[in-house]
Amino acid sequence: QDRYAYEPVFLQAVQEVLQSLQAVLDRNPQYERNKILERIVEPERTISFRVQWVDDSGQVQVNKGFRVQYNSAIGPYKGGLRFHPSVNQGILKFLGFEQIFKNSLTGLAIGGGKGGADFDPKGKSDMEIMRFCQAFMNELFHHIGATIDVPAGDIGVGGREVGYLYGQYKRITRSYEGVLTGKNLLFGGSLARTEATGYGAVYFAQSMLDARGKSLEDRTCVVSGAGNVAIYCCEKLYQVGAKPVTVSDSRGMIHDAEGIKVDVLKQVKEVERESLSRYAELVPSAVYTPVSSYPEGRNAVWSVPCFAAFPCATQNELNLEDAKTLLANGCHCVAEGANMPSTLDAMHAFLDAGICYGPAKAANAGGVATSQLEMAQNASMQSWTFEAVDNKLRQIMNNIYINAAETAAEYGAPGNLVVGANIAGFRKVANAMIAQGV
Ligand code: NDP
Repeated sequence: QDRYAYEPVFLQAVQEVLQSLQAVLDRNPQYERNKILERIVEPERTISFRVQWVDDSGQVQVNKGFRVQYNSAIGPYKGGLRFHPSVNQGILKFLGFEQIFKNSLTGLAIGGGKGGADFDPKGKSDMEIMRFCQAFMNELFHHIGATIDVPAGDIGVGGREVGYLYGQYKRITRSYEGVLTGKNLLFGGSLARTEATGYGAVYFAQSMLDARGKSLEDRTCVVSGAGNVAIYCCEKLYQVGAKPVTVSDSRGMIHDAEGIKVDVLKQVKEVERESLSRYAELVPSAVYTPVSSYPEGRNAVWSVPCFAAFPCATQNELNLEDAKTLLANGCHCVAEGANMPSTLDAMHAFLDAGICYGPAKAANAGGVATSQLEMAQNASMQSWTFEAVDNKLRQIMNNIYINAAETAAEYGAPGNLVVGANIAGFRKVANAMIAQGV
């Protein structure tokens, strides 16, 4: 604990997993004999590098870049790149650690990794974004490859950034290979990858509710975030007959009792790259609340009464008070689109209340699963239809739910998908590590 006190979110992620593993450790002494816990919490390798680039005014800029290659026991390292000023090694270790178990849970052959830079894309011109991505790849290319490590997007890294990163990789290596996922459809991208994480979170919520004879139809839902995951979560909610009434960004939130207008949201966030206050200018029924007016220490999104909540912005955006408010307002279901959006005590409040609670590792695995489908299409030089990919995604999310639910029951914690997801993800990786020797 003391050794990693400067990496609090990493400690939080490890604590959440370790709390779940006692039963599987008790039944399997080989894990302790092989020091699996000591090994699995340590990345196989962390690469840290300087990113130097020139801004539009001719000034030299310097950022820190990272790639954490966490675990390759079951496949090449796989996990997104985050560009955000808050990025540091501890945040990428938390994300990479989570990624190991998430990727294992998908049932696909992918190891865990994560990377990024403390670069702030906000307010940068398109050419600055391009030069930064190229400078980042000038170093990263040494460490990645289609069968070694295959990065994707995350906060601040979408289709545009993946395109610039891919172009530079190709220029340097003269190799046209599936080294990144989330690519443009013109050069090896997969249909439905853009939608996959948000759609997947809704499919996961459906699986959880279905098992209890409930559904999302005609239900009011709240969503946080306004980026890739949140937008396609809202889109899928409409498709299954539900109504999303909120979205948020780092500056404020929108509450639209008539339902979020997904086309306007896409225009504001994907095209104009503007703040949500712009959405309120375009949609008369929308009420905009800036962060400065949120209840103290709280996120205003979680005060809006709902049947189901989809946190899709960032880590620790939903605390114990938020969880209590959601529960008091009758929330039946929480499916996490973001990584570790609930604090540990909020997570326990949901588990104690016995609602349908889909932890991030399980509920947002649709993105990485579809990335693996993109890798499969690249390797076989095929392109599958949107429907084919979407059907596989729905199937994968349901399989993850079944795997987590059955494992939870097997280990004496029926209904606890945190325990189920952690143990199911861990077992496969731990067994592969043992089989591969030290
Ligand atoms: P985007 O960059 O597309 O969107 C992020 C959204 O969250 C933006 O609306 C952003 O606001 C908001 N946000 C970011 N940081 C904060 C903060 N500190 N406080 C409040 N709001 C914030 O990222 P994604 O949608 O891709 O990612 C969202 C979450 O989903 C992350 O936790 C990511 O790790 C996770 N995830 C993403 C996957 C994917 O496929 N993209 C896969 C699995 C998980 P603003 O616009 O103001 O910056």
